Amino acid sequence: MGFATDAIHGGDGNDDETGAVTPPIHLSTTFARHSVEEGRDYTYSRHNNPTREHLEKLVARLEGGSEGMAFASGMAAITAIFSTFTNGDHFVVTDNVYSGTFRALRKLQEHNGVKITFSDSSNLVAFKHSLTDETKLVFIETPTNPLLKVSDISSIAEAAHERGSLLCVDNSCLTPYLQQPLSLGADLVIHSTSKYFSGHSDTIGGVVITSNQEIAAALRSIQSVNGAVLSPFDCWLLMRGIKTLALRMNRHSENGQLIAEYLSNHPKVSKVYYPGLPSQPNSELARRQSSGSGGIVSVELEDQALAIRFLNSLKLFRLAESVGGVESMASHPYTMTFGKLSVEEKDHMGILPQLVRLSAGIEDVEDLIEDIDNAFEKAS
Ligand SMILES: *Cc1c(COP(=O)(O)O)cnc(C)c1O
Repeated sequence: MGFATDAIHGGDGNDDETGAVTPPIHLSTTFARHSVEEGRDYTYSRHNNPTREHLEKLVARLEGGSEGMAFASGMAAITAIFSTFTNGDHFVVTDNVYSGTFRALRKLQEHNGVKITFSDSSNLVAFKHSLTDETKLVFIETPTNPLLKVSDISSIAEAAHERGSLLCVDNSCLTPYLQQPLSLGADLVIHSTSKYFSGHSDTIGGVVITSNQEIAAALRSIQSVNGAVLSPFDCWLLMRGIKTLALRMNRHSENGQLIAEYLSNHPKVSKVYYPGLPSQPNSELARRQSSGSGGIVSVELEDQALAIRFLNSLKLFRLAESVGGVESMASHPYTMTFGKLSVEEKDHMGILPQLVRLSAGIEDVEDLIEDIDNAFEKAS
């Protein structure tokens, strides 16, 4: 079956009892046994819940994995994976990694004795040199946010496996509709479902997908013991969002592409980051491993003052710390999403004060471009 069909029917959520075409939300915290001797499939909703199970099967199917695990946030999903490693293990991580992931890794390094090497995963040769025989986890994002660097998933998977390491890909920016890392050799995929996967800026969540039974069992145990599971209502909201994932991602990519092209020709813009532009490094690779570039477009303006005046002048683009909603959003990564990092850390990552990140929603692109145009006029 095609992706859009799977997104609607793939979770097998038909309610045979009532015929409801949309699955019910099972809010029950606990499930009564038939008798002391005879239990049921479900016991207590932290361990397992029918609505969560429905969602987990759906996301596993969409990513082409056998197991899905839903967590209370993207960070809960990421830290669940990290917590399966021990003292002395070595990680190699994309240097332009999501700021929350970076902060979690820094804590892991300080308190848990995990050794971490940050390296630019879009530079394949240098990145491979960072891997050693002690490397247990390679963690990449592609494209990265906000600099949209693209990394070669299948070559990195091969290099990781040669060293006996696992590869985990954060696929939040593209979703399985545009890119499927497991089919390119990755062992684990994570998503912040708070972004494109749910798509409506109304639920925080995270999922992990894998076909590795051993890792899946470890992560299920962490779900039960640490307890940061996604609530039944949030699972349902996410499933509702997933029904339109294919439609939304097509539109995000179309709008992103047109906005990136418009900005490449704008006199106030000194640099555009968008993998869908043929002039970009790795645009060829992006075309090969994904079927669209999504809605995130970053630009550098003349200086920080212009960037801030521009952002403050936007009207349709909401000034907000997120991406992936149906509504367009804009942010100043230097002071907002990366605000807690030191100047040196931001410098090292290439997050400059004049950088602006746009998240193209699914509105009419003419209106979005007019909003950008008006904001430039007001800011200049
Ligand atoms: C937002 C985000 C996260 C963290 O997810 P939360 O749901 O906010 O905890 C992780 N990775 C990427 C790429 C993100 O954009």
